Amino acid sequence: MSFAYALACRECGREYGLEPIFSCDFCFGPLEVSYDYDLIKDTMNVASIEAGPPTIWRYSPLLPVDPQYKVDIGTGYTPLIRADRLARAIGIDTLWIKNDTVNPTWSFKDRVVSMAIGKAREFGFEAMACASTGNLANSIAAHSAAAGMDCFVFIPDDLETGKVVGSGVYHPTLVTIDGSYDDVNRVCTELSYQRPWAFVNINVRPYYAEGSKTLAFETAEQLEWRAPDRVVAPMASGSLFTKIWKGFQELEKIGLIQNPTTKMSGAQAQGCSPIATAYEAGSMNFVPQKPDTIARSLAIGNPADGYYALKTMEQTGGGAAMASDVEILEAIQLLAETEGIFAETAGGVTVACLKKLVEQGAISKNEETVAYITGAGLKTIEAVSSEIRQPIHIQPKVEEFDAALEAYN
Ligand SMILES: *Cc1c(COP(=O)(O)O)cnc(C)c1O
Ligand SMILES: [Zn+2]
Repeated sequence: MSFAYALACRECGREYGLEPIFSCDFCFGPLEVSYDYDLIKDTMNVASIEAGPPTIWRYSPLLPVDPQYKVDIGTGYTPLIRADRLARAIGIDTLWIKNDTVNPTWSFKDRVVSMAIGKAREFGFEAMACASTGNLANSIAAHSAAAGMDCFVFIPDDLETGKVVGSGVYHPTLVTIDGSYDDVNRVCTELSYQRPWAFVNINVRPYYAEGSKTLAFETAEQLEWRAPDRVVAPMASGSLFTKIWKGFQELEKIGLIQNPTTKMSGAQAQGCSPIATAYEAGSMNFVPQKPDTIARSLAIGNPADGYYALKTMEQTGGGAAMASDVEILEAIQLLAETEGIFAETAGGVTVACLKKLVEQGAISKNEETVAYITGAGLKTIEAVSSEIRQPIHIQPKVEEFDAALEAYN
């Protein structure tokens, strides 16, 4: 069962029933799921978690979905890798990589979609739908296929081939729109009032967003039930970033970790950096931007949770940084060459910002840090294909190899 009992307005605190709604009728603030932590404390402990499946569903009591409605294609419980070679390269003592590239559709979005589709089934929606920068599209199409539900996916028309094919293969109704993600989102918001569909990041967004907490649950469990000193995570709408912090706080509420003092640092691409720009200006109000970056998965110019991301930085003593496209490409290579992990552009943003924050002294050398790598590199091959060294090409003869190798080195 789920221990969620209400939706509460993040601004005025008014409570609502667990319905497919997302904003407060009184103040238009966003709604968030509330849980009965005392009841959870009685049923959830280290032993019960360890007895659970090796997926996000091991933390079921802290999730909003009644397990009988879940669609489980094996999401979560991804590796937390000690990244000593990368740590040395950027000058930090203890660094971990949370490798979320290995989810079923190769990004962290499988975590949030798992929540959205479970709730949509519980509410009796006929179809799933979403506005997406690519990864969400892949994940919702896959989960809908596995659940046998209709699926409508709306994306900007200039996305990477990997993201388009990676949605199309599951056979959703795929719509490309001549515009940015923010245009796509506007169309979907209008459609959500007209169609009986669960728009994962609109009318079921409060439930969807809860999925990101599992990144904190897994990290704490993999660190043997403690929170790290520092987190570096990418920000698009800012939801994932704020929910990692909510996840650590919830573990404290149920007594699984002690007083988390994690400082939360957010990463954005310079070409779409409304949140990081506001942080650097010392403002809690971001100015929307028109995105222009290779980090398409993070290209949300008007971030729904931007304000809450800034609040999370303020509350935790964290901060933000931004990386140029050149720095993003260098960071993708650095992560691949030091740790054997091939990330998409969002991962490049995270590593580039981590490096910058260490260089600036904003992250000190002795802080135990976890960097979240949220999507796989094969999805954004276009970004790096001109960066890699040309292979040696030979006829099938050993002599040719010997000669060519000499010339190559
Ligand atoms: C969607 C996405 C994020 C972050 O999304 P938020 O909207 O900030 O929750 C991070 N990385 C990747 C690869 C994504 O697809
Ligand atoms: Zn309100």
